[in-house]
Amino acid sequence: MAKKDRRSQQPAFVTLRDMPGTRVMFWVVDSCPYCGERHLHVAGNLRTADPGEALGEVPAPCQPERPYVLTLPPRPKRKSGKEERRKARRDSKREAWDEDGG
Ligand SMILES: [Zn+2]
Repeated sequence: MAKKDRRSQQPAFVTLRDMPGTRVMFWVVDSCPYCGERHLHVAGNLRTADPGEALGEVPAPCQPERPYVLTLPPRPKRKSGKEERRKARRDSKREAWDEDGG
């Protein structure tokens, strides 16, 4: 991974929303890295657009000279949940065996 040199770029975490009654999607910046306010960025039409393509560097509405990078927030760890489920399945299997054997 190459380091990004531009310090002016701030990640802005987004959530995908759609406008009720329309097919237009928005990336919503809940907390702008510059002003702390909420900003909306049109991600495109639900049917025709890939909202992922609208991610990346965009000019911040409040700071046109300082772009920020629309970034998906880190998701909670799924891996541990998967492990737990597998473990639970293994435990239940062992229980079944105990019943058979006993
Ligand atoms: Zn802002």
